[in-house]
Amino acid sequence: MPIHYLDNAATTKPCKAAVDAMMRCFSEHYGNPSSLHKAGLLAQQETDHARVVLASALGCDTREIIFTSCATESTNMALRSTAAAYGRRRKKIITSAVEHASVKKTLAYLSDSEGFEIVEVKPDETGTYRAIDFLKECDDNTVMISMMMVNNETGHVLPVKEAFSMIKRKFPHVITHCDAVQAFMKYPVKANALCADFISISGHKVHAAKGVGTLYARKGVKLRALIFGGKQERELRAGTESVPLIAGFGATVEALSSDIEKRFNYVKELNISLRERLMQLDGVRIISPENASPYVLSIVVSNIRSEIMLHYLEARGVYVSSGSACSKGAGSGVPEIFGASSKEADSVLRISFSSENTLEDVCALVDGIAAGQKEIMHN
Ligand code: PLP
Repeated sequence: MPIHYLDNAATTKPCKAAVDAMMRCFSEHYGNPSSLHKAGLLAQQETDHARVVLASALGCDTREIIFTSCATESTNMALRSTAAAYGRRRKKIITSAVEHASVKKTLAYLSDSEGFEIVEVKPDETGTYRAIDFLKECDDNTVMISMMMVNNETGHVLPVKEAFSMIKRKFPHVITHCDAVQAFMKYPVKANALCADFISISGHKVHAAKGVGTLYARKGVKLRALIFGGKQERELRAGTESVPLIAGFGATVEALSSDIEKRFNYVKELNISLRERLMQLDGVRIISPENASPYVLSIVVSNIRSEIMLHYLEARGVYVSSGSACSKGAGSGVPEIFGASSKEADSVLRISFSSENTLEDVCALVDGIAAGQKEIMHN
């Protein structure tokens, strides 16, 4: 049975460039970058090259790149460092109400254990986030703002650049963190243009392997390590580097950087075809707005619980998700914030594309939903 993988916001298949680079590191360049002999040097060259590629992709200096194990770690480091280094007097943190758990839970920890006040900004009545609403919450007591660029459940694009630039102009002391996990390699994610002090990104969402992420940390911004030990990553992230995963991340970004726009337009076409076909079905409502990232489409299939439809589709080789992969089926509350009723939230499906998907995947999905509506409803 052919597999139609439409769960790319959860994770992506590693691309050939990533696999080749990882294989090279596993079989040839397997030294420890800290070793002084040739094997160490070859491994060091692998991580150096990946750092140059990531720095170029984010438009920053190589010294502003820290390799981590995942975006969750990058975000923990950014938010907890900022709270420790700048949060003695300033206790207010601004964020959106629709952040990924890696931001939400870290902020909940800072609130519970260190007394920070967390202000969650909601979208307006049309489900749109406005930059001005983030600025309005800022004051002299604000230490930082953490805002995602593309929502992982619905694809909503948040006005990070506009909000950060307004805030930096009026409150230059506020530290800015952007979770760009679902935007990186899809939208321009450039540190200076975003006015970001920190950016978190992840390898496995962009066709590299699981287990590698990056934190961009602007030069001069104060940082505290989460993990203590050796001198790796300028003593900010101790532990022997995972050279294969880092090299694979670099190779992926290098391979995909030249045609970001072409892939975006291709996926947009797929997204439009899917929307057109879904609109022919009764009982399907599209939650994602038309200006959402084309890589994510969130829908409600009325009166059929997400898990039931998900497993029905799975049996036909079509893989989608019931929302955020990290919430493991538990409601995140994000669809409701973007206008779904609580009943609808139980029937949400998230379809997420990569440029490897085809119209065949779209047709298999739509046929599967239509068949499921008939079969499940009548049982
Ligand atoms: N932020 C967003 C928006 C995500 O979608 C995810 C993963 O689902 C993460 C952060 C966490 O990324 P990682 O799996 O690399 O920790």
